[in-house]
Amino acid sequence: MADDQPIHIETAAIMAGRRADEPGLAPALHASSAFEATDAGSAAEMAGSTTADRFYSRYGNPTVSAFESAMAELEGAEAARAFASGMGAVAAVVLGICSTGDHVVTQRQLYAGSHLLFTSVCPRFGIDVSFVDATDPDEWEAAIRPGKTMLCFAESPANPRLALVDLARFGSIAGPITAVDSTFAPPVAQRPLEFGVKLSIHSATKSIAGHNDATIGVASGERELVDWLWGFAVLQGANASPFDSLNALRGLRTLSVRYDRQSATALRLARFLEGSPYVESVSYPGLESHPQHELARRQMRSMGGLITFDVAGGTDAGRRLVESTTIARLATSLGGPETLVTHPASTTHAGMLPDELRAGGISEGTVRMSVGLEHPDDIEADLDAALSLAFHASR
Ligand SMILES: *Cc1c(COP(=O)(O)O)cnc(C)c1O
Repeated sequence: MADDQPIHIETAAIMAGRRADEPGLAPALHASSAFEATDAGSAAEMAGSTTADRFYSRYGNPTVSAFESAMAELEGAEAARAFASGMGAVAAVVLGICSTGDHVVTQRQLYAGSHLLFTSVCPRFGIDVSFVDATDPDEWEAAIRPGKTMLCFAESPANPRLALVDLARFGSIAGPITAVDSTFAPPVAQRPLEFGVKLSIHSATKSIAGHNDATIGVASGERELVDWLWGFAVLQGANASPFDSLNALRGLRTLSVRYDRQSATALRLARFLEGSPYVESVSYPGLESHPQHELARRQMRSMGGLITFDVAGGTDAGRRLVESTTIARLATSLGGPETLVTHPASTTHAGMLPDELRAGGISEGTVRMSVGLEHPDDIEADLDAALSLAFHASR
């Protein structure tokens, strides 16, 4: 292959994270929590190294570092650090970067766990947080307090209405460290660092591991920044497990085919939902009706498997819908092989105040669907039947 021809991300996803000294096609599982040193000097060296993966597994581990190096490569980053969950990564970024007296700017539409971290944990540590409308780049800039704002934390696409942040504008913010939770759009679809963003964060529990069999998170960026996070993370203790890293790396190998198939099915289902008399509104970045459709096409290669829609009918139509599907299962996650439906108002967002719910675009009728890998005809028929049932039963 010619040196000047960069490989495609689909190919990189197959090649990344392999060790020259391991002939196994699948990564080796190093379950060991500790590794024997050859001498006192090398033990001392490893104890202070951010990259030693054969010292003690809370610091680093060969299976975990195989996943980390694959992620760094796919993100176009110098380095990556894996965590015990997506929230492990989010907490490390926020609490590893910010101290008492510092200020953070984040957005109103946000994953519920991150929202709780910003509203309940940050104030306890004297970290001040401002919430902006993610879709308005000017609001981000206006909320920054020079010298005080250490972090701008975005999520795109965002929970649950799939609003987007203009990554080029966000990445051009000077001063604070910029971080994007890109869980809904893995590297095959969106690479925030290409837009100048400093940290890209994923709950790899979702599309990246992709089979509902791993709980793991990851943050990628410049080596210096990831090393800084490492210094906090070894004390935070939310390090990724080798077993979950193995599953996450396995997931990366098939990510592009899974994501593209889910995106194709989701577009079809979003169109179907838009045409259904039992549906009030549909949010999907791939639909021309999405207010940021043009932006989505500029910054995402593929629109993903998440669709959020409002069921028409009485106030319990949303709940009835998630109880009426048979192929789509009622479970809170996304990016796996099974199509899932959730009712945010009563589950993930149940702790929110009514005006916070409204700001997040969530009503009683709102349903979030993660499109899986079943045949599109079957999911559509399942939805069609469940919508009619939910609509008529709730009236
Ligand atoms: C699930 C999720 C998280 C948290 O990840 P966990 O692996 O569950 O800790 C963070 N952000 C987004 C957007 C998510 O969907």
